[in-house]
Amino acid sequence: MQTKKLMAAIDREWVAERTRELVDIYSVTMAEAEVCQAYEAMMREVGLEVDVREVTPGRNNLYARIAGRGDGPALMLNGHLDTIPVGSCPPARREGNRVYGRGTTDMKGGMAAALAAVKALLESGVELQGDLWLTAIVGHEEVEAQKDGPLALIADRNSGRIGGDRILIVEGRDALWVMSMGSMVFTITLESAAGGKHTQYVPFAENPIRFVGALIERIHQNQLELDAGEAHALAGAERIDLGIVAGGDYFNRTPLSCSLTGTRRWLPGRSAPQVLAELEELARPLAAAGGLGLRVEMEHEREPFETPADDAAVQAVGRAHEQVVGQEAELVGLRIVGDANLYVHGTELPTFYYGPSNETAHADVEWVEVDRLEKAAQVYALAAADYCGVVSPD
Ligand SMILES: [Zn+2]
Repeated sequence: MQTKKLMAAIDREWVAERTRELVDIYSVTMAEAEVCQAYEAMMREVGLEVDVREVTPGRNNLYARIAGRGDGPALMLNGHLDTIPVGSCPPARREGNRVYGRGTTDMKGGMAAALAAVKALLESGVELQGDLWLTAIVGHEEVEAQKDGPLALIADRNSGRIGGDRILIVEGRDALWVMSMGSMVFTITLESAAGGKHTQYVPFAENPIRFVGALIERIHQNQLELDAGEAHALAGAERIDLGIVAGGDYFNRTPLSCSLTGTRRWLPGRSAPQVLAELEELARPLAAAGGLGLRVEMEHEREPFETPADDAAVQAVGRAHEQVVGQEAELVGLRIVGDANLYVHGTELPTFYYGPSNETAHADVEWVEVDRLEKAAQVYALAAADYCGVVSPD
């Protein structure tokens, strides 16, 4: 009965129009002020009280609590309001079953769907046992924000300003994304103490660049070792990848330093310091063979996360998906990292993702299907009722 009431209260056109309105507002990371105001107004429009948490002037995280009537578990719906640069993406517009524009699928559509679910709960009079939290953050996409929005949310959860026993990020495909590998950008630098010399005086065997070649080959070997090692059922084997080879400053002078920069991704149960030590181990014999100094550094490191498939909130979203879509929800594990990696390690709360869609995220032409926005909103409402529990009407 309450399921029917909730499903009937999801307003498809409302979700589509709110998505289009949010997408129509320019909100590249660091310029979120206007979209924060708009989303706050939408939250108030559906009847929420909003806790405006300034991250930097004008850029606010927004928090709202739909108070539970009993002592059921609390669910937090979460997502970001910023986008990557607009690029050549067409402006916001609705066309049939699609809304176009930068940020439609990543992830203003998800934020509109989460709000539609809250609206349906409030309007249908279905009361929850546990609290439902709706939280919007800034500072997700571009590195210059240094994840200030997600980190502020972690601090606020740890200080008790906001609650929630589980975090559901309303982003990604309509599947249960429950695991991401750890990830770092690493740089291995080989330094020559001999200084730059005319190459005619240095036998090629002693040219530092030769050892860069050997190191690249060693990294290839390392990938083969990783391929033969442990694999995750959802995400496969660990990875080492290279993107930048740099070194030397003149065609006939030996280089002072050469470096390789790439990405290293690792499985749950292992940590960034461990993986960094392995990289050092891997490069040390080659540096020694060339009489070269060695520096191994990491940045943008994120530890892996994994939320068990049998977690109560994951199960609740899975059941809701089945009810709405008519098929079992797929379990997903990825090598790429997201805010869940930060949340799990910052708050120790089990975290996972379920979104309307993700296929056109960061693409030149970004869009989201209205059908899937509607379904996502239905899934969020049903999952909140299932996980938090509902107060029976009698
Ligand atoms: Zn995103």
